[in-house]
Amino acid sequence: MTQPEKIPLSRPSITALEVALAGDAAQNGWGERCYDYIHRFEGEFARHVGVKHAIATSSCTGALHMGMAALGIGTGDEVILADTNWIASVAPVVHLGATPVFVDILPDTWCLDPDQVEAAITPRTKAIVAVHLYGNLCDMDPLRDIGRRHGVPVIEDAAEAVGSVYHGARAGSMGVFGAFSFHGSKTISTGEGGMFVTDDDALYEHVWTLSNHGRARQQKKQFWPDMVGYKYKMSNLQAALGCAQLQRVEELVARKREILQRYRQLLAGVPGLSMNPEHPGTTIGAWMPTVVFAPETGLFSERMVQAFVDARIDGRVFFHPVSSLPMFGSGHGAPQAADVARRAVNLPSFHDMTDAQIERVAAVIVQTLKTHG
Ligand SMILES: *Cc1c(COP(=O)(O)O)cnc(C)c1O
Repeated sequence: MTQPEKIPLSRPSITALEVALAGDAAQNGWGERCYDYIHRFEGEFARHVGVKHAIATSSCTGALHMGMAALGIGTGDEVILADTNWIASVAPVVHLGATPVFVDILPDTWCLDPDQVEAAITPRTKAIVAVHLYGNLCDMDPLRDIGRRHGVPVIEDAAEAVGSVYHGARAGSMGVFGAFSFHGSKTISTGEGGMFVTDDDALYEHVWTLSNHGRARQQKKQFWPDMVGYKYKMSNLQAALGCAQLQRVEELVARKREILQRYRQLLAGVPGLSMNPEHPGTTIGAWMPTVVFAPETGLFSERMVQAFVDARIDGRVFFHPVSSLPMFGSGHGAPQAADVARRAVNLPSFHDMTDAQIERVAAVIVQTLKTHG
């Protein structure tokens, strides 16, 4: 018996444009021209997000690390994050010697609950990290209001939120700084890569210096760092891929939204399911279509993922509460964060997915709901 073709979770959309620009960078992007695609990608990305400054990095984790370092986050400080998160948003806090403080999420967006954030603020709070989970949007107005009232900057981790817009502002443009990821699984991809963005001139200059092994722009002496910095640079080759992807960003986001919409249609009549919300005044980039099973369905994430494995589909469990990981206390997690994690899965959503593949995924969900138990 022939097995059905495997459906991957994610993979980038690569066209002749990406191949042409990457080929040009490989052939010509050296010597005098070794920064051409990097500078072009930074400029065009800043314009896309609607901010003054952008610095291309080797990862989103690196962008977060440098931004947090430039804000002076260090030993004894606290940084508030949602308990529902990938460890990448948390690791830089730990590397800087600060303490991550995990708070619960809102049950519909799976992002920071502003009331819980306010309750967690102490005199040691140095930042709030708003992660736009799966391309859903954090409620930025109340979060920024809390930040203003307590004198605490709000950082945006927009790694999953290319194409997401909140009240007219793009994700990543609303915090003191924003960080993006171009990992192979993300909406626009350079294989590995990231971007630091900000409107703050002084913060930009500080991160620019940090990103250049501590060598300030005005330093004319060769090999003369002004501080101990970092090495989180993007290569010109990756930036060439990024320029091509960014040229296609509207198309790439539209396709993500179309795939989510198709899942919604196929699952519309099925009771006990909810998916990524899109609140009035917002547009989501739909990076990762996610289904939450209502408690009364009795269906849990692990069971659903097993059904996907059996059907040769690469589904994923929802992020575990970070506070349930061994290095953060092995607790049960905040109530909402723990509850949603047990009942939710991520669905495949790569751009080149066919309608037949989307239907196959939806059919496995419907069938498993009927027959599990
Ligand atoms: C992917 C991701 C990251 C990490 O991005 P890298 O580029 O792999 O460092 C950070 N935060 C979130 C929310 C992500 O989804």
